Amino acid sequence: MERIQIQGRCHCGVITYEASINPDYVVICHCTDCQNISGAPYRANVPVLPENFHLRGQPKTYVKTADSGNKVVHAFCGDCGSALYSQDAVEAPHAFLLRLGAVKQRAQLVPKKQGFCQSAMPWAMDISGIPKIPIRTKSQPPAKSGN
Ligand SMILES: [Zn+2]
Ligand SMILES: [Zn+2]
Repeated sequence: MERIQIQGRCHCGVITYEASINPDYVVICHCTDCQNISGAPYRANVPVLPENFHLRGQPKTYVKTADSGNKVVHAFCGDCGSALYSQDAVEAPHAFLLRLGAVKQRAQLVPKKQGFCQSAMPWAMDISGIPKIPIRTKSQPPAKSGN
């Protein structure tokens, strides 16, 4: 598939980016680090090459050292805490992994694969049967929104 242009931003808007990505490479990761670091049951990512990634703003970083000694840099907004991307090396990374939650076009970017399924939350593999909370209308008192 052709590459497409996407835009991303943290929740407070201090950090924004533009990237050119291949939608065929959107993947879900169920690894325990993704669960722990993202605070979510799993994470979805799309890779981008450095030359196709244009960042504005200065994220805070957390360097995770794997058992292998490899370092992965996790970048997030120091003001609002939004997860933005990781990179495969501290200096001169070969690729960035953009966090889908910060991508404006995320609804269209359907994941094509999922990894580390052995550590997936068993219930996260199919949430379609979980009852949906009705959408509130203006006549109803507002439920606490946005977590
Ligand atoms: Zn922010
Ligand atoms: Zn992961």
